[in-house]
Amino acid sequence: MSYKAEYIWIDGTEPTAKLRSKTKILADGAEPPVWGFDGSSTNQAEGHASDRVLKPVASYPDPIRGGDDILVLCEVFHIDDTPHESNTRALLRPLAEKYAGQEPIFGIEQEYTFFKGSRPLGFPENGYPAPQGGYYCGVGADEIHGREIVEKHLDNCLAAGLGISGINAEVMPGQWEFQVGPLSPLEVADQLWIARWLLYRTAEDFGVSATLDPKPAKGDWNGAGAHTNFSTKAMREGYDAIIAACEALGKGDKPLEHVKNYGVGVEARLTGAHETAPWNEYSYGVSNRGASVRIPWQVEVDKKGYIEDRRPNANVDPYVVTRLMVDTVCTELDALDLV
Ligand code: ADP
Ligand code: MN
Ligand code: MN
Ligand code: MN
Repeated sequence: MSYKAEYIWIDGTEPTAKLRSKTKILADGAEPPVWGFDGSSTNQAEGHASDRVLKPVASYPDPIRGGDDILVLCEVFHIDDTPHESNTRALLRPLAEKYAGQEPIFGIEQEYTFFKGSRPLGFPENGYPAPQGGYYCGVGADEIHGREIVEKHLDNCLAAGLGISGINAEVMPGQWEFQVGPLSPLEVADQLWIARWLLYRTAEDFGVSATLDPKPAKGDWNGAGAHTNFSTKAMREGYDAIIAACEALGKGDKPLEHVKNYGVGVEARLTGAHETAPWNEYSYGVSNRGASVRIPWQVEVDKKGYIEDRRPNANVDPYVVTRLMVDTVCTELDALDLV
């Protein structure tokens, strides 16, 4: 029996890339081969030389189609076998390998917002719902919008074998979160992209769209982030490495270099209000949800654990945030011999 492989890749749309996918029928027992696509339709090529290459890098059981069908995550290459400019995974690979000995792991909290037409799910046709207060982790039809989609998405992620660690309703109506990890840099980023694809695909069947827009409703409504929790072996074993990691992220040009690459529209979300720190002022602190980087209270008690970078936007590229954090923190821990 033949089976279906859904090839999934990240396109070249600016300023925020989109997910694309198409189906290949494979003979029973055949491995998913390298494939091609029309890059001129995905902002990855000009029309006159439009062939681009899809190289499978990971596969997962397809929870939508079931059976033997699979989802195939791909990197995009040029026909001369160099990584395409949009291929940020290719930039993470060498860093992940270089610092694998420090055993860096990530847990990323993906916030997102459902939309029905042009309004967030749960926003009335005219005007606004009741102000924020009861929606976060809420229950009941007056507080909660889209739970049936969220539950289906969670089941689909688990059936695909993804390392999802939880879900919750967020502060704005129609806004939700799932967490992926803790996993290695490449695994967490691969799986977050697959979980995003499954989110769009699952919601599609309900006639609902999902967006990673960091500020989907203007005004006094929370934005959507992708808090990035991070540790190395040394951080999981001692507090000196925790503090050194927080300090490393604050050195010199690092705060700006990170924030600039934490997703388009980060200035609009990191205002200093709505549980954020201003985008242009770096800070860290224990339990502080108004800091750029938070040390969870339990980590201070245990004197070991992990840190949470609260700055990344919901629309961040996980290949980029994990690369920057590994580069900045692991380089510093290496120099301090905290490995
Ligand atoms: P919050 O309290 O900020 O809402 P969440 O529970 O939503 O936190 O997410 C925390 C994430 O951090 C989870 O994905 C969890 O698996 C991850 N995590 C836990 N321990 C570690 C660790 N040592 N290193 C990296 N990530 C971790
Ligand atoms: Mn969370
Ligand atoms: Mn959250
Ligand atoms: Mn968080």
